[in-house]
Amino acid sequence: MGKRWDAAVVGAGIAGLTATRMLVTAGKSVVLLEAKDRVGGRIFSVPSGAGNHCIELGAEFVHGKPAPTLELAREAQVELVSVADRHFTKHGTAFQELLDAWQPFEHVLKRRQRGEPDVSARVFLERHAIDVTLAERFRQLVEGFEAAPIGEVSIESLAADADAMAQHEGQFRVAGGYGRLTRHLLEQLQASGVEPRVSSPVSRVHWRPNGPVSLAFESGAEEVEAQLCVVAVPLGVLKAAGAVQGLLIEPVVPAWQAAVARLGMGHACRICFEVGGDLSAKTIPRDAFIHHPSLPVRELLVRAGCGSNVRDCVGRWSESRAISARERGAAATASARLAREFIRHSGGNADREGHPQLPA
Ligand SMILES: Cc1cc2nc3c(=O)[nH]c(=O)nc-3n(C[C@H](O)[C@H](O)[C@H](O)COP(=O)(O)OP(=O)(O)OC[C@H]3O[C@@H](n4cnc5c(N)ncnc54)[C@H](O)[C@@H]3O)c2cc1C
Repeated sequence: MGKRWDAAVVGAGIAGLTATRMLVTAGKSVVLLEAKDRVGGRIFSVPSGAGNHCIELGAEFVHGKPAPTLELAREAQVELVSVADRHFTKHGTAFQELLDAWQPFEHVLKRRQRGEPDVSARVFLERHAIDVTLAERFRQLVEGFEAAPIGEVSIESLAADADAMAQHEGQFRVAGGYGRLTRHLLEQLQASGVEPRVSSPVSRVHWRPNGPVSLAFESGAEEVEAQLCVVAVPLGVLKAAGAVQGLLIEPVVPAWQAAVARLGMGHACRICFEVGGDLSAKTIPRDAFIHHPSLPVRELLVRAGCGSNVRDCVGRWSESRAISARERGAAATASARLAREFIRHSGGNADREGHPQLPA
């Protein structure tokens, strides 16, 4: 066994990077262990071909003005740009603006009565005999925006989210990409001599009440020992404890295990197109959300972007451990249909490589 560290941090997403920085600032020696070959986790910005644009393959919006994010953006000297909340939907062959995009949410949630027990959104719609059209628009919003099947998500959690949204002071995008925030954290760590160990999936954390903690790797590489351990991996990895690509914590912490078992996470699949030309020349502004309920995925919120040409980033999904072959197939079909519709909408053709092109 090599050096014993003060702390080991598992997962180099924004949570793990932040925890590492706090520990380093407190004077601790830290080893940061990351499964992928890059840091940032579900924050993943890739440059686009055109100008200063980037494509967000993960998180995109800062919802409201959360103090830690604002502080980090200030520190990294990154601008937060306000996003217009405009929504469009498919109407026949055209896209039409939805002026009341969030209304189904309000209309359904105001039917809650004081003291009513918490139930799933589906049961709530049935119990309150919500009109079929309204219920369908509500479902599309919940499953599209929250990525939560209505049979599983609690109506109270949706109401809490709606309250938080009502207090939001807008939505923002990180100029130059969310990844600038994780890059800032990484650069600070590197300046303090901490180089994350990437491509190092941890398979087991074995802890003792007063330390040390030992960490084993999927690859069978030499174990790491630290006085304490911060686990900053996604819920799915904890749920898969003991299975391939899961993280096992031993001995089991019963309260923690019970919480992990009760929590759930919906699947979100992001399809990105780089679009040549400017859609704002047509009816859809560049920042618009497009609701497209008829595609063969539960619901899709698409954002019109701007770049050099339409390119399907389907390959990126193979990164996700959770997406099934059926879901991948549905997303590929949705993606191909969307590409065709965008082209038809804007009167463009395909380029020599078969990438759809908008007219200049
Ligand atoms: C498509 C998409 C869009 C989103 N949009 C938004 C948005 O607009 N606004 C918003 O606020 N949030 C959004 N989110 C959510 C947001 O991205 C996450 O909440 C946030 O990035 C999570 O950060 P994290 O550090 O907790 O986890 P992660 O970023 O998931 O980091 C966990 C890290 O742990 C690593 N890891 C996993 N298993 C192991 C292991 N066994 N050993 C070592 N390392 C391991 C992973 O590779 C990963 O790098 C979005 C998420 C997705 C996927």
